Amino acid sequence: MDLSTLFRVKKVVFSLEVFPPKKDNPVHVIYNTLLGLRGLPADFISVTYGAGGSAVQQSKTCEIASLIRSNYHIEPVSHLTCVNARKDKIIETLNTLKENGVQNILALRGDLPAGEENRSDFVHASDLAAFIKSYDASFNLVGACYPECHYESQSLEADIENLKYKIDSGVTHLITQLFFDNQRFYEFINKVRQAGITVPIQAGIMPIVNKNQIERTISMCGASIPTKLATIINRYSDNPAALRDAGLFYATEQIMDLLENGVQGIHLYTMNNVQTATRISTAVESIIAAKNSANEA
Ligand code: FAD
Repeated sequence: MDLSTLFRVKKVVFSLEVFPPKKDNPVHVIYNTLLGLRGLPADFISVTYGAGGSAVQQSKTCEIASLIRSNYHIEPVSHLTCVNARKDKIIETLNTLKENGVQNILALRGDLPAGEENRSDFVHASDLAAFIKSYDASFNLVGACYPECHYESQSLEADIENLKYKIDSGVTHLITQLFFDNQRFYEFINKVRQAGITVPIQAGIMPIVNKNQIERTISMCGASIPTKLATIINRYSDNPAALRDAGLFYATEQIMDLLENGVQGIHLYTMNNVQTATRISTAVESIIAAKNSANEA
C-alpha cells in the first residue's frame, strides 16, 4: 500500500521503527521482536538502514522490510541512505524491494562515518528521492525532518527551506527526529506550515527507558531535555525499574498532549524493545482509535 493514501483516510497514523540485528547477528534474531510487535495497532513498521555499513548489513534492511510484509502482514517502510551509495547499487536495492512488494521508502542522506571519504552519487536526501522517483515513480517516498534543526543547518528557517527540496523530489510525508519537548514541535509545525509545506508530519517519539540510552540519544540527536524529564532522569538514575516506568509515563504523556493538539501521526522509535512498544501502544491505542473513527463518521 502506498502510505500517502493512509493520511487521506486516517486522522492519526501510528507507526513503529525497528533496526536490523547488528554486526554478525543473522536476520532471524529479530523474528521474536517482530512477532511481539505484530499484535500492536501499527499502520506501518519502518526498518533502519546503516549508512556506511557493509553490504551484508544493509541487505538486512531489505530482507526485514520484505518479511514484515509477507510474514507479519504489516506495511513496511524501508529506510535507504545516500552515504557511499552508487546508482547501480540503489537500482539493485529498488529492484529487490519492488520484487518483494515493498512500496514505501524513507529516503535519507545518512551520516558519513568519521574520517571516511564519501563516494556517493548523491549529496542530499532529495537527490536520492528524485533518483528513486525517476527510476520507478510507483515508490512512495517519506523524508526526515528536525524540529530542533538539523545539526549542519545554520538556522531552523534555512533547514525548513531545504525541506522543500525533498517535497519537490516526491516525498509525500515527513517523520521528525525524536524530541522530548512538545513546544519545540508545535513551533516547528507552525514554521513549516508558514513556509508553505503542507505534507503530513509524524512526530518521532523515543521513550527513555534506561540510563545508557540517555547520553547516547542526546549526543546523537541533540534533543533538548525539558526540566520535567531532567528531574526524572536525576531522581531515578540509580533505580532501573523506576526509571523505565517514569520514562514510559513521560513518553505516554507526551503522545497524549500531541494527540490533543492535532498531531497527524506518531512514529515510535521502539529500539526493538517489545515491552516498551506494547506499553506505549496500549496506553494510547483507544484515543487514536477514537480520533480515527470520529474522522470516518
Ligand atoms: P538531508 O535532507 O540531505 O539534509 C542534511 C542537511 O543538508 C540539512 O542540514 C539540510 O538543511 C541540508 N540540505 C538538504 N538539502 C539541501 C540542498 N538541496 N542544498 C543545501 N542544503 C541542503 N540515518 C541512517 O543512517 N539510517 C537510518 O535508517 C536513519 N533513519 C532516520 C529516520 C528519521 C525519521 C530521521 C529523522 C533520521 C534518520 N537517520 C538515519 C539520520 C539521518 O540520516 C541524519 O540525520 C542525516 O544527518 C540527515 O539526513 P537527511 O535525510 O535529513 O538529510
